[in-house]
Amino acid sequence: MSGVYLDYNATAPMRPEALEAMTGALAQVGNPSSVHTAGRAARALVEQARTDIAALVGGPASTVVFTSGGTEANALAIDSAVATGARRLIVSAIEHDSVLETAKASGAAVELMPVNENGVADLAWLKARLTEWKPEDGRPFVALMLANNETGVIQPVLEASEIVRAADGWLHVDAVQAAGRLLTDSRALGADTLAVSAHKLGGPQGVGALTFGPRATLVRGQHGGGQERGRRAGTENVAGIAAFAAAARAALSEPELKPAWRDAVAARLKAEGAVIIGEGAPRLANTLCVAAPGHDAALQVMSLDLAGVMVSAGSACSSGKVKPSHVLTAMGLGEVAACAIRVSGGWATTEDDWKTFTEAWLKAYAHHRQRHAAQPAA
Ligand code: PLP
Repeated sequence: MSGVYLDYNATAPMRPEALEAMTGALAQVGNPSSVHTAGRAARALVEQARTDIAALVGGPASTVVFTSGGTEANALAIDSAVATGARRLIVSAIEHDSVLETAKASGAAVELMPVNENGVADLAWLKARLTEWKPEDGRPFVALMLANNETGVIQPVLEASEIVRAADGWLHVDAVQAAGRLLTDSRALGADTLAVSAHKLGGPQGVGALTFGPRATLVRGQHGGGQERGRRAGTENVAGIAAFAAAARAALSEPELKPAWRDAVAARLKAEGAVIIGEGAPRLANTLCVAAPGHDAALQVMSLDLAGVMVSAGSACSSGKVKPSHVLTAMGLGEVAACAIRVSGGWATTEDDWKTFTEAWLKAYAHHRQRHAAQPAA
């Protein structure tokens, strides 16, 4: 691919290890449910992958359920909670649409947990809310993501889990953006269910997993065969699962990304008047959410693309829509939200990629300001 790709939070390029595992598995025949030699070989790939993904998410391999991605993993957790008696769901205001929309569609009442101006969940609100929980609302269910896809802001999941546990609730953690970038051990984090997706960490699109602890009961989301111990019917995506595991192994074996490149860029952009979103909170080292006041985000994305640099405006799933990002709105960002772009790197990103982005951004912003200054006042 030519150009500089800085949109890893939308999807990361496939790692060579994942590509090799995928093509290797695709070249092999076998349904993991078949008892003959070919079937057993496919089963072995899936079970080895389950062990590898368990290392990514914590807990025994038997608690890993493969899904078609992060969206389905989130839905399996939410639908299971509702099916087992939750009648009111608390979801943070900055959750991914796959959590927000599934919660709204679940039939249960939904309450949004607010965030502060840095995009960090308000745990004092959560604690107070759970203190007055009514028994008729069923067991409390709380969804708090580990790291936000738009801002990279890391959420206080461990502290939230203590509060949720004290209320005998169920904490679901969407770790799709954090997996492979931060510790995503569900037990260490106190998560009852935790969702991950392959394509954010260098695996293929269309495969993910949900892990669950002893305090969560999963229900069958799809009916048919008894795959995934009866939790998810359908022939497994063997090649995708094998590639997911290869990507996870590679991600776990590499050193954590350092924020130095991102921070150097942020400092230069800030000097030109840019606003760094979530700057006061801990953030994923790969993510920069930055607003250029007055410069529409969609125009920025287009001019950067013309300069060969690929980034996105808000989250990839919501870009293209005119409506402002619900994440930035929840942070109280108002008009600035319309001028915010997300720059996100990853396993193949170099310091030069960040530098190329910086030069292209500075040029585009200078050009925008020149044009603006040249316009006669109305
Ligand atoms: N959760 C978060 C935080 C995400 O960023 C995404 C993808 O953008 C998802 C869930 C959905 O994952 P998938 O694309 O695997 O369905």
